[in-house]
Amino acid sequence: MNQVTAPMRHQKAYDNVLQTIGWTPLIRLNRVTEGIRTPVYVKAEFFNPGGSVKDRIGPAIIEAAEREGRLKPGGVIVEGTSGNTGVGLALAAAVKGYRCIFTSPDKMSREKVKLLEAFGAEVIVTPTAVPPDHPDNYVMMARRIAEETPNAILANQFYNQANPEAHYRSTGPELWEQTEGRITHLVASAGTGGTISGTGKYLKERNPAIRVIGADPDGSVYANYKRTGELGEDHPYKVEGVGNDKLPETLWFDVVDEFRTITDKDAFDMARRLTREEGLFVGGSAGLIATLALQVAREVDDPDALVVCILPDTGERYLSKLYDDEWMRDNDMM
Ligand code: PMP
Repeated sequence: MNQVTAPMRHQKAYDNVLQTIGWTPLIRLNRVTEGIRTPVYVKAEFFNPGGSVKDRIGPAIIEAAEREGRLKPGGVIVEGTSGNTGVGLALAAAVKGYRCIFTSPDKMSREKVKLLEAFGAEVIVTPTAVPPDHPDNYVMMARRIAEETPNAILANQFYNQANPEAHYRSTGPELWEQTEGRITHLVASAGTGGTISGTGKYLKERNPAIRVIGADPDGSVYANYKRTGELGEDHPYKVEGVGNDKLPETLWFDVVDEFRTITDKDAFDMARRLTREEGLFVGGSAGLIATLALQVAREVDDPDALVVCILPDTGERYLSKLYDDEWMRDNDMM
């Protein structure tokens, strides 16, 4: 293992940047797994051009709306988002010539709003401190803008089946091929649930013995719902993009064998270790997922098993949060 660059990568030219989405590398963990016999590999989604797994669903949602005749040239894409989905949609909209309007609660960092604006999106900042059914709530406002704007669609990532289907068609087959069918455990998280549902469904169709395990932030309702069938209490947490206080239609619970709860502190600690010990510069949800993947690998304790975990996004988006010692101390994480 002494090559400097990857073999046979990007050998041919692409017509546009959207063609470079997906086929992200699968990379073995070497140092954080010390003492664990089960091999653990990561799917490095920060290699996508917009820096996250959500680049996969941007074009998929837009192309589904085009096919259904709901989106025509010059159209507008609306979503309540300030995160990676916004980037995925804005990237695809830039290439395809659509406008984007996003609504974002004012608790979101200025950098994230700037990032969406950099791609040409219009971002409307809404008050965080309003009830979910208030007209100024960011989801309600996105819905209203989509209804009132001619030739506009609501991307609707928590309900739009084009989201999990994008992973069924891309992330799943990629992992099957990259592991030559040897994957035994998939560890992922669920925000919308698109990644774990679509990827997990594809893999289980190839081999029903594959276990699909979800990492849920302490405070989210998914783990308790899977265990008891009831929502239970939610409380705030710091890891971004994952977990929820309600159930989306893009999370296919029957595909997930179990959810396990991981704390913010463990998630952030592992994200920083992945950066410093493996050279994988990732966000907090990657730390959440990798923490669980190592737990699973330790329990399985089998050199012939193969655990894959998803690393959803780049650490660049969190320099002023989990990569900032002062922020970590202020939040009792160090
Ligand atoms: N991690 C991060 C940082 C995300 O932005 C998302 C998407 N919300 C996820 C994980 C989870 O992905 P999914 O929505 O496909 O469940």
